[in-house]
Amino acid sequence: MEVVPQVHWLKAGYANVYLCVEEAGLTLVDSGPPKRADAILEYVTGLGREASEIRTILITHADWDHAGSMAALQARTGATIVAAPPTAEYLRRGRAPKHMPWPLSFVVDLIGRYEPAPEAALTTAPAGTVLPVLGELHVLATPGHTSDHHSFYSPARGVLFAGDALGTRSGKVSIAPDFITANRTAARRSARWLLRLSPELFACGHGPPLAASSASELDRLQEELGQS
Ligand SMILES: [Zn+2]
Repeated sequence: MEVVPQVHWLKAGYANVYLCVEEAGLTLVDSGPPKRADAILEYVTGLGREASEIRTILITHADWDHAGSMAALQARTGATIVAAPPTAEYLRRGRAPKHMPWPLSFVVDLIGRYEPAPEAALTTAPAGTVLPVLGELHVLATPGHTSDHHSFYSPARGVLFAGDALGTRSGKVSIAPDFITANRTAARRSARWLLRLSPELFACGHGPPLAASSASELDRLQEELGQS
């Protein structure tokens, strides 16, 4: 569904995918778990647009629930996969960075593989890059949940694609649980930084996208993060 003009939220099973719909072309933010390409492309054609209009697939971090359908979508659209260099390293191997305790990490490593990004379709965009999406889409390094994590922010539109640097599962903006966080200090630093941007829409990897709720609620979260 369209959550703000030109930004659509697609629930891809366990994780969220976002679709930016612009005249110049379509952009996906994350690709969902494996086997979600059909549903995503059906949604696109339902809007009266062609799969081949998807020009770019942005990936926030190389977890299987975010990169799982990347290769299938790329093969069917010809899109360029764009990710920050540390994420691209994992995407080329179809592997996720380690960020869970054993035995969870063992299981994830075993089943959490995904089809790698084809080298020819992969482009890197380091933190600081400004992409021509939603006005300007800034690539921000937001490590913590995983070491390679990046977020994408459109200051003009106030839309923050936070991946798993923030979540909205509980119906409010929160930080990912500690037990799936690679570096808790970095995760809190990243979250504080994202909150200071005062986005109007929190479009996170899990949970429904949220319009910035009361300022006091975000202040409370800032305070909570500041203390930990
Ligand atoms: Zn996730």
